[in-house]
Amino acid sequence: MRKSEILLITQASWIVARVLEDIEPYIQPGISTYELDALCEQMILSHGATPSFKGYGGFKGSICASINEVVVHGIPSKLAILKEGDIITIDVGAKYKGYHGDGAVTYAVGEIAQEARDLLNVTQFALKQGIAQVKPGATVGDISSAIGTTIKAHGYGIPLEYTGHGIGRSLHEDPTIPNDGKAGSGPRLKEGMTFCIEPIVHQGKPFTKVLSDHWTVITKDKSLSAHFEHTVLVTNEGCSILTTTGKKEVTHG
Ligand code: MG
Repeated sequence: MRKSEILLITQASWIVARVLEDIEPYIQPGISTYELDALCEQMILSHGATPSFKGYGGFKGSICASINEVVVHGIPSKLAILKEGDIITIDVGAKYKGYHGDGAVTYAVGEIAQEARDLLNVTQFALKQGIAQVKPGATVGDISSAIGTTIKAHGYGIPLEYTGHGIGRSLHEDPTIPNDGKAGSGPRLKEGMTFCIEPIVHQGKPFTKVLSDHWTVITKDKSLSAHFEHTVLVTNEGCSILTTTGKKEVTHG
């Protein structure tokens, strides 16, 4: 990736991080994912970017909004209304001057059960462990192994069909970044690479099911699913997290 391209991916990723911060106060019982989608779209547009997901493969929303047992690709809907104790993943992509940034956070809606909080903590920690492997000369397998080891140590399920990915001019590029794997395997990381690391974790078994809308993915056993994602850059020293505003780490509150 050229320096000028890295700058644009950095700017797109900053917008994603800013939206994930700015939407947090709206994550309250009673709001619909349709309203959250409209708010996020406005925020993305206000920064001079466009929502990467809108129209992608025919997707109708500007964000993916996935409540509780929904794993990924939840379609924003007036009928999907948050209630106290839910968890919701907001996945945001922004395209800025031809380049994409991508990030996701699972938020708590009000007070959530300790088991749900544990799931969120472990998923976020797995993302941190994956990012900690990123440096020139390391491999994709090093990232995958760090993520998988963290998740499996807690007995959670990993739906391996959903992975992280390279990002740049396209939303999804090579390499694929699996959420489990063997250290030392796979493509080698080089300075200037940009990709998304995104552990997706089930409280129960790893099996998924796609609903008849052809988008919404749920856990087969209806257990909760969490998802945290950052866009990162391989630097000469290691790794720079691009989906940040520099203010604070976006957490689940
Ligand atoms: Mg992604």
